[in-house]
Amino acid sequence: MLTRREFLQFVVGGALGAVFSPLPWRIADEMVLFSQRWTYQAPDGEESWTKALCQLCPGGCGLRVRKIDNRVVSVKGDLVNPINQGGLCPLGASSVQLLYGEKRRVRKPLKQENGRWKEIEWDEALDILAQKLREFREKRESYTLACIDGYGRGLMSDLIKRFCQSYGTPNYLKMPSADDASSLAMELMQGHKGHVGFDLENADYILSFGSQLLEGWSVPVRMQRVYANSLKTKAKIVQIEPRLSDTAAKAHELLPIKPGTEAALALGFAHVIIKEGIYNQDFVSNSTHSFDAFKELVLKEYSPKAVANITGVNINDIKRIAKEFAQAKSPLAIWEKGKGNIPCGLYEVMAIHALNALVGNINKKGGVICFNEIAETWWPELNLDTTATESLKMDRIDQVRSKKYSLATSMLHQFAFNLTTEPKYPINALLIFEANPCYAASQPDLFVKAVKKIPFVVVFSTFWTETAQQADLVLPAPFYLETWNGITTPKGWPYPVFGISKPATQNLYDTKHPGDIILTISKKISDNTAQALPWGSFEEILKTVAKKIYDTGEGKLASSQVSALPRDFNTMWEKLSQGVWFNPEVKKVGFQTKTGKFEFLPSKFSALYLSQKASLPHYEAWELEGSLEEYPLTLICYETLMLTGGYIASSPYMMKALPPTLLKKNDLLVEIHPETAAKYKLAEGDKVRLKTPFGEAKVRAHIFEGIMPELIAMPLGLGHSAYDEYLAGKGVNAHRLLGYTEEKISGIATWAMAKANLVKI
Ligand code: SF4
Repeated sequence: MLTRREFLQFVVGGALGAVFSPLPWRIADEMVLFSQRWTYQAPDGEESWTKALCQLCPGGCGLRVRKIDNRVVSVKGDLVNPINQGGLCPLGASSVQLLYGEKRRVRKPLKQENGRWKEIEWDEALDILAQKLREFREKRESYTLACIDGYGRGLMSDLIKRFCQSYGTPNYLKMPSADDASSLAMELMQGHKGHVGFDLENADYILSFGSQLLEGWSVPVRMQRVYANSLKTKAKIVQIEPRLSDTAAKAHELLPIKPGTEAALALGFAHVIIKEGIYNQDFVSNSTHSFDAFKELVLKEYSPKAVANITGVNINDIKRIAKEFAQAKSPLAIWEKGKGNIPCGLYEVMAIHALNALVGNINKKGGVICFNEIAETWWPELNLDTTATESLKMDRIDQVRSKKYSLATSMLHQFAFNLTTEPKYPINALLIFEANPCYAASQPDLFVKAVKKIPFVVVFSTFWTETAQQADLVLPAPFYLETWNGITTPKGWPYPVFGISKPATQNLYDTKHPGDIILTISKKISDNTAQALPWGSFEEILKTVAKKIYDTGEGKLASSQVSALPRDFNTMWEKLSQGVWFNPEVKKVGFQTKTGKFEFLPSKFSALYLSQKASLPHYEAWELEGSLEEYPLTLICYETLMLTGGYIASSPYMMKALPPTLLKKNDLLVEIHPETAAKYKLAEGDKVRLKTPFGEAKVRAHIFEGIMPELIAMPLGLGHSAYDEYLAGKGVNAHRLLGYTEEKISGIATWAMAKANLVKI
């Protein structure tokens, strides 16, 4: 007989199995077009196939694109591609809908004049942009430009950063993500600034601290393979999170935990491992530094009893899981909540990664793999003129690099806050690249207020987003199937990958690649920007990187089949535009810290004059706004495979596939445990007012045993006011209620939770 848990695992597992098998999606992506009054007619004409790389998330999955004449009619996963091996997620399968979703697309350059939108030609749009930027630079006010990078990584990010430097603005920002804490922790503990991969396929024990693997973390199709593989290899997956997510339901074990206490649990595991002497003594003695200080702290403060009190996890479970983890052959602890979009704190990542150091599973099969990508390190040296050099010395508006935030690299929340209070200087122009901060920034209303203070806002966007609606100039970008693009190694992938995607179809609208725009305006702004960005097109940059990779002679190509690198570069380029290059034999990067070892107590902290305890991985409770009397409950957010929370919003098909327990007509349902519901006299579907210190919303109650008592859970990705009728006005934007809480040491703002209250309406 199935237990309730087994039943849930069966149901969710069955649904996910269907989602990840390529077969239903091969059918689904065509069915989608018929299902929603879509003006689609299967066309008669000549059938052809081409290849592309999906750009809708950092996964970069390989696709086969079917066309009838010039019209794309479906996309399927590319079996040869090492990343997705034929699989496709619902977002990727919606590519055709997003390509032809004309109400979502920005179709022509737009200029806002007296509150009205006017279509303009590209020459005029680029002249306006270049002239404004030239003007500020000539007045020695380059620092009054700010850029927000929605790519977050890869060649486009590097290009935007290079543009900012040669122009002379220190105000380069990116959309916040879980990567922020991850990169900082790796830099501090290992001195590594490059790519961090997780060899999940070869791990035999995966301890996931809230990473929603099946909901879309890294590449969702990869995670399905990891789960399927674990059934064969008997690898164990333990999910640690406060609700029964799809990932938790499919895991071998779920440890429900009080949100925000993950660092304490990791240190509780470390306590047991050290006390029992079951850590990797060889690795710890020879390859780590400051172990004794770490040992002293965890033995003193993180006994299973103390940790059980903090986290709500049972003492015996703490002891048992710690032992299982340490005694596995290739144990791996992973972090980054949700799909990687929900930031966690620096200390949390340090505490979790300390477990990997205790078991010595770094740069080993089944462990954490660190390497540098050619695509990140090939850029020629930058020569800056005096204007840029002087301007770059100015303080940043978000206070990054200040004494208070010396470890931070980008703080969008402080940027918005400071602009709306007393900025050190005004921001005259803001360029936003394929990002939607007016929806997805923490406290989006504050961000809108900040944007209104900036006289010239330019948005580069494929879609008609909430942020585009606030701009002075909107520059339409092509959809990924219409343009040259490149992918670098997907998030969490254990070896380097580089791929080229050439246009699968002609531009449907009057769009330009943002990379091409940067290269064009750089030549119009100044000699310095022109010299820093000499390439004629983004395609030329892709070709330059491909050549650098070719010159190494390393790795393999996966196009029609997997093969060694060809003898000449032209053949390599041709094959690369039909597939990807990858190199499982990449040289791993060792510890590049001051001591040349893994540092439990990072040397870099010495400049901050912190106490020993504050320099070691430790647990600090998040200081959430609001009193317990007014807000006795905690609101948490989660991500799902069928909803995307960022700039690429959910497709019409994905919206249609949402369960009625999540969205009923336009009403959002929030998850509440039966005990909590009883306390508030709530029944399924009851309307409630959900209130936090940041805002309030009318929602409905969904009584769910899979969430811990005293918590309320809501998904990221709803509550849009832009895009199209499939999205606008549906549900509530979680960011408006979650606000943010800042970690003092790192300046990282998380929106994983907020204090909350409910009132039945
Ligand atoms: S996982 Fe990402 S890259 Fe792959 S199909 Fe889905 S959206 Fe596209």
